[in-house]
Amino acid sequence: MRSRLLFAAVLLGLASTGLGDALSPAAVDQPKREAFLLVPLNVHVLSCKDRANVDCKLTDADIARIVGKVNGVWHKAGIHFCLDSVLHEEAENVVAFEEKRSAPDGAAMLSIYRMLAPAATRGRPGLHVYYVHELPPNGVYLGQNVCFVKETAALRKVEGGIDEPLPRVTAHELGHGLGLPHRQNTTNLMASGTTGTLLNEAEVTVARGRAAKIDGAMTVEACAGAAEAAKSKGQIEQATLLQRYLSELPK
Ligand SMILES: [Zn+2]
Repeated sequence: MRSRLLFAAVLLGLASTGLGDALSPAAVDQPKREAFLLVPLNVHVLSCKDRANVDCKLTDADIARIVGKVNGVWHKAGIHFCLDSVLHEEAENVVAFEEKRSAPDGAAMLSIYRMLAPAATRGRPGLHVYYVHELPPNGVYLGQNVCFVKETAALRKVEGGIDEPLPRVTAHELGHGLGLPHRQNTTNLMASGTTGTLLNEAEVTVARGRAAKIDGAMTVEACAGAAEAAKSKGQIEQATLLQRYLSELPK
């Protein structure tokens, strides 16, 4: 009986693992500073004066706090998200978006949110997070480096979890952007709807593999080299920006 129970437990464990609890230990040792990957992050705060469901009121101070905490989560994987500046933008195609959203089953079609993304900044290198006021789920990864997160996100608290929803939802959606599927153990970053932030070693390997291929991603060495090169060419603004990214890494 006992062995049958054990067998069932193992099967259940394997079924719920994704990039497996049973197969991969938690990532506890943060990689050394020189092993970090720097990934460009584009944060778009979308406004819309006619549509309260879209209009997001997050400030630069909110975004700085959120991205700081997102980096706190992802530093365990040796990944640092580099935020140049916050893009406060008017949502585009709002009328067409609302038409689609109000159609039968329209609200369930999360892909329509992509329409709101302004064309001028959509092609910037790196991952993109768009903040809106409301969204059916807390957040969604739509593919092609694009996430949407709602400013009203709410989560179920778990032991050891993060202290506010937005950094967790953002870090979770970026996890999808880095190739991770769900892993439904309440303490994990990739569990749905909880405050958990843990990653395991298998997830770290997948995420770092994907991060290295993202347009604009750099190693620490490459970033330091680019900062020096910019400085020697008199591109002081660019050099200062790259040096800021390096200064945000763990010592
Ligand atoms: Zn998810």
